[in-house]
Amino acid sequence: MSFLKEIERRRTFGIISHPDAGKTTLTEKLLLFGGAIQEAGAVKSNKIKKGATSDFMEIERQRGISVATSVLAFEYDGIKINILDTPGHKDFAEDTFRTLTAVDSVIVVIDVAKGVEEQTEKLVEVCRMRNIPMIVFINKLDREGKDAFDLLDEVEQKLGLTVTPMSFPIGMGYDFKGIYNLWEKNVNLFSGDSRKNIEETIEISDLASQELTKLVGEKPAETLRDDIELVEGIYPEFDKDEYLNGHLQPVFFGSALNNFGVRELLDCFVEIAPKPRPKQSEERLVKPDETKFTGFVFKIHANMDPNHRNRLAFVKIVSGTFERNKPYLHVRHNKKVKFSSPNAFFAEKKEIVDISYPGDIVGLQDTGTFKIGDTLTEGEVLNYKGIPSFSPEHFRYINNADPLKAKQLHKGIDQLMDEGVAQLFTLDLNGRKVIGTVGALQYEVIQYRLEHEYGAKCTYENLNVHKACWVEPTDKNNEEFKEFKRVKQRFLAKDKQNQLVFLADSMFTLQMTQQKYPSIKFHLTSEYN
Ligand code: GDP
Repeated sequence: MSFLKEIERRRTFGIISHPDAGKTTLTEKLLLFGGAIQEAGAVKSNKIKKGATSDFMEIERQRGISVATSVLAFEYDGIKINILDTPGHKDFAEDTFRTLTAVDSVIVVIDVAKGVEEQTEKLVEVCRMRNIPMIVFINKLDREGKDAFDLLDEVEQKLGLTVTPMSFPIGMGYDFKGIYNLWEKNVNLFSGDSRKNIEETIEISDLASQELTKLVGEKPAETLRDDIELVEGIYPEFDKDEYLNGHLQPVFFGSALNNFGVRELLDCFVEIAPKPRPKQSEERLVKPDETKFTGFVFKIHANMDPNHRNRLAFVKIVSGTFERNKPYLHVRHNKKVKFSSPNAFFAEKKEIVDISYPGDIVGLQDTGTFKIGDTLTEGEVLNYKGIPSFSPEHFRYINNADPLKAKQLHKGIDQLMDEGVAQLFTLDLNGRKVIGTVGALQYEVIQYRLEHEYGAKCTYENLNVHKACWVEPTDKNNEEFKEFKRVKQRFLAKDKQNQLVFLADSMFTLQMTQQKYPSIKFHLTSEYN
């Protein structure tokens, strides 16, 4: 197959949702359609079990699963689909944000009873800012939930989206009869048989026909006719370009657990979802069909075996082909590197491959040379943008608890930060190290991994910081900036890129500081230019 055809047939996307909305279940059903797995239950949930936060076996189990589910690839209808895993747990939100830099589109899963939940709001906001095309799947229609129109309103208001239903439920919960597909103009009846894999679809070209009444009963048929009239009256017609620009979001209804409405979603997805998209680098826009390879690291995974400290760096291919044993430029190190065993991902396994195409993810064995955001090319000096760090929510001093293992501790912290587990800040005043994380769980992960993988011990000490702000002075030499640095010295630190950061102990302090030093800009993300 030609290079262009290979690009044409790839769809790389992520499924985002609040925990429990049905992401794992939906993923599994998609894989079943692709024939990539044979039975339900094959996809492991990467969820942290409730109450298991201090159970380290649980953390290890979770890490194991998260390697296995990082990328799930399958073929459907001649299309190569790559699903990138996005942890739903809020303590790993940073991981999900980074993964979103490597997807070309997303599917948002919403629980019909719970509606729009907190994590969904945050993740959708990131997608909206980046104009990532989104399809919404409203799940668990077999359960009693919110009224479909109310839910569509909620999606528009809370998520700031413009929706257009592509399917519509006939009843709900106990009275759930099926789904009318506006896209294909047919009715799909729900039998409630969760073991069935593929349902039969009944063509209904005319909603007014008696056939519909016969199928679902008089009252539901009447309601559906009214509903569809309303849908067609109030929602914009589907427009592929608007969807691709991130301005219009098609909505599907279904029940992932019952494999209901999933095929419709998948069929529409392969037809409308974008093939690999061009990506902005600091230097220029790079198109997928350029023949020279470029790609970037969006995730790093440590080996589960503490005796082998090698890691797997996940690279998204942006342009050209990635070939085994070919030397590529590691731009940050300005060094050529070769990979003898690049991994490609399939449903539940990884295999060494000779060639991969734009949209694909390759896993590269790494002994500590990569960090998140690194770019690889065939020689051109390019740096892909868009893997920002956000201000952490929690801050603690990290102390060495074993003076004989200072080196190990240092190395361990360094590598864990490169993996993106947390952020490190070094105080200007005394050189003390502060670890910032999104969730409290990470402190336990770090402590455990330092001990088991690096033989180092640490303790933490609380520190009263509300937010880390990246500081951007208008003029490094003006008096105002000099005074700011003098007065706030105790609260200044450097991040790992040596950028200046102000650790504000409260929102109030931040506002006062901003007022006092108007020529300085304070940013809550590290990538502000
Ligand atoms: P995730 O946290 O988003 O990955 O959610 P899961 O896929 O693990 O689903 C959470 C729970 O909801 C599980 O108990 C699923 O069996 C259940 N579930 C998923 N889809 C449906 C559905 O369509 N109907 C019903 N009734 N339950 C569902």
